[in-house]
Amino acid sequence: MARGQQKIQSQQKAAKRQQDKKRQEGHDQKAAAQKALTHVCTVCKAQMPDPKTHRQHFENKHPKAPLPEELKDVV
Ligand SMILES: [Zn+2]
Repeated sequence: MARGQQKIQSQQKAAKRQQDKKRQEGHDQKAAAQKALTHVCTVCKAQMPDPKTHRQHFENKHPKAPLPEELKDVV
């Protein structure tokens, strides 16, 4: 695997996360707060703020585990 590619990906991910955070804060703080950390990894019980993060986590950390139903529609 190319290391440069991974670095770019993680930079993009970080930028996107910040963007999402900003959007959530300005947009619907209450709903965002309610939704926060409601996604718990079925494998390692780590808590995630949104399904997208959860899916990314799942694919990265548990590539051999079956993807939970709820994450199958997450794009
Ligand atoms: Zn996990």
